[in-house]
Parts: sequence; structure tokens; C-alpha cells
Amino acid sequence: MTLDAVLNRIDEDLPQALDRLMALLRIPSISTDPANKADCARAADWLVDELRGLGFEASARATPGHPMVVGHCGDAAGSGPHLLFYGHYDVQPVDPLSLWDRDPFDPEIQETPKGRVIRARGASDDKGQLMTFLEACRAWKAVHGTLPGRLTIFFEGEEESGSPSLIPFMQENADELRADIALICDTGLFEDTAPAIVTMLRGLLGEELTIHGPVKDLHSGMYGGAAINPIRVLSRILGNMHDDQGRIVIPNFYDGVTELPDAIRQQWQSLAFDHAKFLGDVGLSVPAGEQDRTPLEMIWSRPTAEINGIWGGYTGDGFKTVLPSAAHAKVSFRLVGEQDPFAIRENFRAWVQSQLPADCTVEFHGHGNSPAGVMAIDDPAFDAARAALTEEWGRAAAYVGCGGSIPIAGYFKTYLGMDAMLLGFGRDDDQIHSPNEKYDLQCFHKGIRSWARILEKLV
Ligand SMILES: [Zn+2]
Repeated sequence: MTLDAVLNRIDEDLPQALDRLMALLRIPSISTDPANKADCARAADWLVDELRGLGFEASARATPGHPMVVGHCGDAAGSGPHLLFYGHYDVQPVDPLSLWDRDPFDPEIQETPKGRVIRARGASDDKGQLMTFLEACRAWKAVHGTLPGRLTIFFEGEEESGSPSLIPFMQENADELRADIALICDTGLFEDTAPAIVTMLRGLLGEELTIHGPVKDLHSGMYGGAAINPIRVLSRILGNMHDDQGRIVIPNFYDGVTELPDAIRQQWQSLAFDHAKFLGDVGLSVPAGEQDRTPLEMIWSRPTAEINGIWGGYTGDGFKTVLPSAAHAKVSFRLVGEQDPFAIRENFRAWVQSQLPADCTVEFHGHGNSPAGVMAIDDPAFDAARAALTEEWGRAAAYVGCGGSIPIAGYFKTYLGMDAMLLGFGRDDDQIHSPNEKYDLQCFHKGIRSWARILEKLV
């Protein structure tokens, strides 16, 4: 069986695969720091060489920022789905350097109580993850003599610094990049050994508001009682945002929020998610969201309205009996399903406006907005990938949500008209973006094997 031969090849080649990953990890490709510009270009060139060595037609493509790496293989008119694989070769800054146990760009394999790990900046996010796919392609080629099907490889070098060049590059090269589905490898396992495919990502909307009252700060002895206090107005309005069941009362807020399909609800119920521990780890005990939802639903499939900052008046040492002329807050909304960020912005503003008392005005300042991502799980690639992951890990792979926002999946849909599948092999304790980042060798090894199994089913 060729799949067994590919898997055996992966097992035998693991030491060399680790050497290659270490070589990539030695390049300090910190995208946000101009001092590392040449390093980012070097990481891109290193990947181009790897891809060419594997038989891809590959190049580093200049952008106003760091280069994109694009590679192709297979006959454009060939049969089977055309897959695009996405990862990023840039990494987060390393400071505070003093908290690292060793040089972040001198990777080392270490024994830990939970098994062997490779420790370096970017080991998990995302160099180790992107290399899982390239190593699967390498083993495939060694056994089959050719690369698997029609593949496009797309590596970005600005993911950790806001991806300023990504959308223009996608737009300018849409015909070249468009495939049947994008495989995005930048996420994690559900728990240490349970594979997962992210099928729901929450969107995000930010709003800042200032409530103005008296034309200047007043003395609360002279004016208190007679003058409106903007902090009181602001806290009353924001305090009204939720009812006592945890539901958000802004009109039409739930338009576009879809209920979980039964199959997904059942999968989530079967996940080993410890609600008490989830909250207990941060010193809490009672879920604070909508009272008829589980905590997993709250963080993966329900929208939120949160006050992230609130200020006004006197907050320094001591005391000042000021009656402030203005009060400020930052509010954000996590969005799900088909919720429209622009409609929610308008509805929120109108709702605040409608509650202003006489003599008060409000000023708004909009921050970023992105819609939620809902993956097309009826695409057969999802079931194939789920079956492949289940075979490799020996545990049922689940379709999970992600409370955070990963804009790349939405960009593939918006700018290239293609669906995306997010799956990865990171672990919660990988310390990505933090000192002493690591990637478990087991994740690297089984990640490569997982891709081989997925490719076997897809191409
Ligand atoms: Zn990442």
C-alpha cells in the first residue's frame, strides 16, 4: 500500500526533517522589526529553495513589505481538487529576551516531562506547522515519484505584523492563487492529542464612544445634583447592554446569528472540555454569558458585547470631587454567523443615542471590523480530512469553533472566492508569542503523517 510506504518514509526521515526545520528556525524572521528585513527575505529564499528542491515551480515575490512565497505543481488541467496550502514564515519579536532560557534562534531539542520538544521562536507558530506539509510532500514524492496532485503553496511573511501586503497581493494575483480549497495550518489540536478542524471563527467590531455633558469639568459641591454627570450616563447605558439572562439588548443585534447544526452540537458535547476547569483556571466559577448556553457555545458560537475600557473624571492618587465634562469607553463585539458588522455599528450607535438624556451628546469613533468566518463543511474535503485525522491520532477529530479572529480564512473567501479549512497541530502550552516557545516532536511527526493521510484522500 502506497500510503503505508509514505508513512514509513516519514518515520524514517524524521531526523532529517527536524534538521531542516532547525535550519529555518535559525533565521530570525521577525516581520515587525525593520532590523530583520533581510532575515525575512532570507527565510523566504530558504523556502523557495526547499520548494524547488521538491519539484515545485517556486519564487519569492516582492511586495511593499516582506516577500510572499508562491509555488505550484501539477497540471492545471489535471483531475482532482486543486489545493492551496497557506502558512507564514515570519515570527513574533522575542522580547523580553531575559525570560528565554536560551537564544530564541538557536533551536534545541529538549526532553520534558511531556515528551521531546523543539524550542525556538517560531517552532510552533508557524514554521514547524508549515514544514509539516512540505515534509508530507517530500515523503509522497519519494514514494510516488511525483508531488501530490495540483498544489499551490502560499507562504506569507507579514502575518505577525498585520498582513499589510496580503490583500493587495491576493487581488493582483487572484487568477494564479485561486484553487478549490485553501488549507490553513496555523491552529492547534483541541487538547493534547485530539485533532480538530476549525469551522467557525468569530468576527470582531470595535467602537469607542465619548459622552459629553457640561462644557467643562465642574466642582461636585457647587454643581453636584443639578448638573448631569456623563460618567453616570455612560455607565447606565453600557450597564443596560445585557439583560439579566445575559442576552444583548441592542435592537437587531442577533440578526444573522445561526443556531448550531445538531451534528456539531453533538460533537461539541462529546468533547472532553472541562467547563469548571476552564473557568477555575482564571479564578471563576459561574459562566457569565447567555444563561441557556454552555461555556463552549458562549466562546465559539455566540456573539458578545464587551466593555474593554472605561474612563473619565479623576483617577489619580488621592481624591478630587470633580464632575467631569466627558466620559469615555471602548466597546467590542465578537460576531458569529452572518452578523453584519456595519449594521451592528449603526444599531449600536442609534441605541446609545436613543438613551441620551437632555444636555448630553455622544461622539463615536469606529475601530476595525471583520465578519465571522463560517467554513463550508459540506465540502467533501472536510469529511475526508476529518477521517484522515481520526485515523492518525486514534481519536475522533472534531469540528470546533475558535473564539478569536483569524482574518486569513475570510480573505480567501472574499478576495479569491474559495473556501478554507483550518487545521493545525499546535498545543495550548506551546507559548506562541511568548518566551520559550516550543513545538512537540509528536505534533511535528504526527502532523506530517496527518497531511500524508489527508492528501491520500483528497488527490
Ligand atoms: Zn501564526
